[in-house]
Amino acid sequence: RSPSATEGTSDSGQPNKKVHTQVAEHYNARPDVGVEKRKESTIFRLKSFNNWLKSVLIGRYARPRDRVLDVGVGKGGDLLKWSKAKIQFFIGCDIASKSIEQARERYRTMRNPPFEAYFHAMDCYSEPISNVVPPEQVFDMVSMQFCLHYSFETETKARMMLHNVTSQLKPGGVFIGTIPDAYWIVKKLKSESDDGLQIGNSIYSIRFERRDSFEKFGAKYWFHLEDAIDDCPEYLVHFPTFQKLAEEYGLELIYNKKFHQVYEEASQELDFNQLLYRMNVISEDGNLSAEEWEAANIYLAFAFKKK
Ligand code: SAM
Repeated sequence: RSPSATEGTSDSGQPNKKVHTQVAEHYNARPDVGVEKRKESTIFRLKSFNNWLKSVLIGRYARPRDRVLDVGVGKGGDLLKWSKAKIQFFIGCDIASKSIEQARERYRTMRNPPFEAYFHAMDCYSEPISNVVPPEQVFDMVSMQFCLHYSFETETKARMMLHNVTSQLKPGGVFIGTIPDAYWIVKKLKSESDDGLQIGNSIYSIRFERRDSFEKFGAKYWFHLEDAIDDCPEYLVHFPTFQKLAEEYGLELIYNKKFHQVYEEASQELDFNQLLYRMNVISEDGNLSAEEWEAANIYLAFAFKKK
């Protein structure tokens, strides 16, 4: 481990630099409500399902003693999953400095985490990761959960994101993530109305400003998810463009599945099936509502291997 990684609690290479963007402000403003309050959420089952799905992805690809970089770590909601995967070293970065403080606190209060962890507030789509992580630090795995799509605002940001994902990932290392499925979103938009700009149900909405053409970068929509995301600007990730760009950075696609498909496959496996109950996706009182189930399928999960 590198000496400066042990310092770890600095917020960025440039101390006190404040990152003010709409996205950072949005996530900073969301409180960390804790386990009990989370159970009262109208989309408690959907949140549990998304957590279960990330556990499946981590369970499939993480190896004991892995060194992990989590880009867009948020409030550290995956720390327990990494703990269960028995990794040995963790760095989490996020543009929202309040979320980073909460992630740091969550790590501090974990019981016997098997790994060391360090957290940095930084714009991972505009600055190189080497601003906060020494270049000799190598990772076995990079994770980007529900956050990569913000980088598709511009090609420059998407390239910086991929530079940060790959520059310290070892050959053979794995990059996992979850993103909205642009193909599904646009297909639904076009099939549901002749000239409408919005799709959704009572728990989510995706609203475009135009629907005639969608650029490869900067294809903006406004996303609302009840009790989670309050009308935040997001960007479509055209998967073939993402895959082609990722190849330029030495990444080979090894997994790409819609959430429904991940569920159909993983729920057949005993361990992941039992986890559905332990994580409250399914219980005696019920399961996801039809509307939550539809919202779950907005997303897809992917994995790349570094050549
Ligand atoms: N990965 C976490 C999870 O699964 O719980 C958080 C997901 S949250 C939906 C999206 C995260 O992406 C937010 O914490 C947000 O601050 C972060 N994010 C957005 N733009 C970013 C950027 N330019 N650099 C770093 N993080 C960013």
